[in-house]
Amino acid sequence: MDFPRRVARPMFTHMSNTTGPRLTRSVEDYLKAVYSLTEREESASTSALAEALDVQPASVTGMVKRLAECGYLEHTRYHGTRLTEAGSREALRIIRRHRILETYLYTHLGYSWDDVHQEAERLEHAASDTLIDRMAAILEHPSHDPHGAPIPTPSGEIERPECVTLNEVALGLAVQIRSVPDEDPARLRYLETLGLVPGARITVRERAPFDGPTTVSVETRVNAEVIGSDLADGIFVIPVPGR
Ligand SMILES: [Zn+2]
Repeated sequence: MDFPRRVARPMFTHMSNTTGPRLTRSVEDYLKAVYSLTEREESASTSALAEALDVQPASVTGMVKRLAECGYLEHTRYHGTRLTEAGSREALRIIRRHRILETYLYTHLGYSWDDVHQEAERLEHAASDTLIDRMAAILEHPSHDPHGAPIPTPSGEIERPECVTLNEVALGLAVQIRSVPDEDPARLRYLETLGLVPGARITVRERAPFDGPTTVSVETRVNAEVIGSDLADGIFVIPVPGR
């Protein structure tokens, strides 16, 4: 029989004590990136993955091929890359670790919401599922992280609320911020100074055409704030509950 002779970098590091083999850090980062790119789109393109992971498109092509062989990804030339069921399960495990870590650092270790992400990016690859489950128990099984993102359950269920971005909200409609992007500390600090944090109730007052700025009023504040469309695009909102 003819086995492929490629000397592959290992895909697995060690056996985790709860569920199957642990993936390498780079595999985990790929699955997570495909997950987040396919949250709003059907599939992830090679160029989008290369940008998200800060690597060359050629290395994305190679890794995607290997992960498809392992059953984690589905890739077709015209339809891009998607997670398989196994890939999605792994991605949600990593996302759970990341979001529980962020919540723990924020709630119990005095971290601010703008510096938990970088710490969680490192720790998510090292923490065992047992450690994460113990943290989750101490946190009384939180449903969302400090940035408002839903935390998957241990069995991989995740809330998928009907969110729209602030750019898609009708003028004059009161909405509540559900989540904000967590990667950029400066952006988080800025959003905080504007009062644009998860749970805040806001109304879009005005939106300039051609990707121009949006004027929003925050329920607890007197003055309206003006933000660019790039900032508004990352802010996910839901209808105000109970209205
Ligand atoms: Zn994060």
